[in-house]
Amino acid sequence: MPDNLSHNTVEVALTPWERFAEYLHIRNKRITQQRRVLLDLVFEAHEHFDADDLVVRLGPTDAGKKIGRATIYRTLNELVEAGLLRRMVISGRSVYEHDYGYPQHDHLHCTACNRLIEFRNAELVALRDTVAMKHSFRATGHRFIILGLCRACQARYSGP
Ligand SMILES: [Zn+2]
Ligand SMILES: [Zn+2]
Repeated sequence: MPDNLSHNTVEVALTPWERFAEYLHIRNKRITQQRRVLLDLVFEAHEHFDADDLVVRLGPTDAGKKIGRATIYRTLNELVEAGLLRRMVISGRSVYEHDYGYPQHDHLHCTACNRLIEFRNAELVALRDTVAMKHSFRATGHRFIILGLCRACQARYSGP
C-alpha cells in the first residue's frame, strides 16, 4: 500500500501511455488491445502487485478471459523495460509498482502479513552514492528492503 507517499508524484513529460507507445514503436511491436487493457489496469492506482493480483483484478470479464498468463508476464516485462514499472523480488515473488512519475523510495516488508510500507530517506541515497563512488561505480538504482514485523503484527505476535 502507498501509505504516506501516495499524494506525491514526479513531473513527467509523457503520459505512461505515450511512453509505452514510444517503446513499442521503437521495437516494431503493436499496441494491442491486451496491452492497452493491462496498462490501464496497472496505472489505475499506485500499489504493489504481482501477476496473480493482476489476474484477479482482470476478473471474469471479456478482457480477462482473452488475456492469458503468458501475455501478462510478457507485458509486465515490457513495462519494466520501458521504465514504467519497477520490479522487486520479495520472498521469491516478483512484485511490481509504478516507477514512472512516482518518487524513488524504499520499503519495509512485514514478513508476517506481507505488507510493504514505503519510505524515503535522503541519507540512504547519499550513503549509496558514497559507497558507489568508493568503488568507482555509477549508481543507477538500488533495492533496499527492511525485513521485520509491522506494528499490527508485533501486537499480534507478542501475545495477550
Ligand atoms: Zn504485518
Ligand atoms: Zn513502493
